[in-house]
Amino acid sequence: MQVAVIGGGVLGVNTAYFLAAAGHEVVVLERRSNVAEEGSFGNSGLVAPGLAAPWAIPGMPRKLLSLLFKNESPLLLRHKLDPALWRWARRWMGECELERFRINKTRLQRIGFYSRDLLEQLRLHYHLEYEQTGGHLQLFRTERDLLLAQPALALMAEHGVTHALVDAQTACSIEPALASTTALAGALHLPLDEAGNCALFTKQMKTIAQSIGVTFRFNSYVEQLEQLDNRIALHLSAGRFTADAVVLAAGIANPALLGAAGGRIPTQAVQGYSATCGIRNFEDAPLSSLTDEAYKTTITRFGNRVRVAGVAEPGARSQEVPEAAQRTLRKVATDWFPNASNYNNATLWSGMRPMLPDGVPIVGGTPLRNVFVGLDDGANGWTAALGIGKVLSDLVSGRVPDIDIDGLTLSRFG
Ligand SMILES: Cc1cc2nc3c(=O)[nH]c(=O)nc-3n(C[C@H](O)[C@H](O)[C@H](O)COP(=O)(O)OP(=O)(O)OC[C@H]3O[C@@H](n4cnc5c(N)ncnc54)[C@H](O)[C@@H]3O)c2cc1C
Repeated sequence: MQVAVIGGGVLGVNTAYFLAAAGHEVVVLERRSNVAEEGSFGNSGLVAPGLAAPWAIPGMPRKLLSLLFKNESPLLLRHKLDPALWRWARRWMGECELERFRINKTRLQRIGFYSRDLLEQLRLHYHLEYEQTGGHLQLFRTERDLLLAQPALALMAEHGVTHALVDAQTACSIEPALASTTALAGALHLPLDEAGNCALFTKQMKTIAQSIGVTFRFNSYVEQLEQLDNRIALHLSAGRFTADAVVLAAGIANPALLGAAGGRIPTQAVQGYSATCGIRNFEDAPLSSLTDEAYKTTITRFGNRVRVAGVAEPGARSQEVPEAAQRTLRKVATDWFPNASNYNNATLWSGMRPMLPDGVPIVGGTPLRNVFVGLDDGANGWTAALGIGKVLSDLVSGRVPDIDIDGLTLSRFG
């Protein structure tokens, strides 16, 4: 079949790879001039299916409210909130119920672990190096943070996820440069979770995809989809393109593209931020990746750089990284690795996330015949990308996917 993939982020590129490997003729249409220029560019880099959890966790609404007016916060509300955001927030709060959380995290892990296995296969097969590191530490500053993590810990034990709850001393033996002056009630060690440079990986997969026949058309902005008798027409800013099947992998733009064709995805656009700096003192730098659970902020080692990422800001309209977000990133970095780098000299980045109320990716068909969609919830898109891409390739090919996709499709939103 001739298949058009809209979007050249980590999801679109890997979907195109799997489709071409399955024998299809594949074109990626990307509005930018290269791959991984939007959501996949400056993220935290975690490929952490063990850690992966929705933001909708029991107790989270109260925790976020209590942090909202602090000097440093994982949530930033600078803009007037529109009615759509309030509706979305109500739906999100419904997903914070314990039973909903258990269902959502289980679904997220199903696609996450599948994805991580595929990543390992590709890494070994193509000898890929993308500044990857192994193991992850989730830091709990207070007993209260530890308490909030209990439902996730219980689920990990039930599902046999390799993990260990460790004390501050053991955490420092895993990450020797971790500052012992910052209070640490405990940490969760996930030795099998990973991190890696998502943009670098995506560029490598682009080259591999090209070598097996995928065509990339850059500076191609898809304005609209149209269902023809047996084909789909894509209206581009310059001209028209038709295909037998279309995969929407346009990240934040997926809801609008599908919406114009009559489908609906209940997303909320939320901006996230990162700061990347060169390492000044290697003996004071992290070896791998960590999450500061109190601030929902990550610290990741990428070769000779360190990246701090986090802060969610709904309603942000520009790409500027606000001082309030920079403050939070700087605080987390200096609290844990004060001498690793000069955090004032960081390269800043902002990326828009399409957040779903339940925090579970979407993969599968749409109301339009032969139009498929892949979308992550904005926090775990790199973790789940290969799994989503392979499932999409199987569905387009008429094959049964390797994993059960019940609860992962658009149909869960009615
Ligand atoms: C601060 C931050 C930290 C994060 N950390 C992590 C993490 O540690 N682990 C993790 O798993 N995930 C993380 N994420 C999420 C992850 O980065 C994203 O979910 C993932 O990169 C999304 O990939 P994508 O390919 O779906 O979207 P994108 O990378 O955004 O790609 C979509 C592409 O579609 C193109 N496009 C859009 N509209 C059109 C159109 N109309 N026509 C043509 N092209 C179009 C865009 O130009 C873009 O290149 C983080 C996100 C943020 C913001």
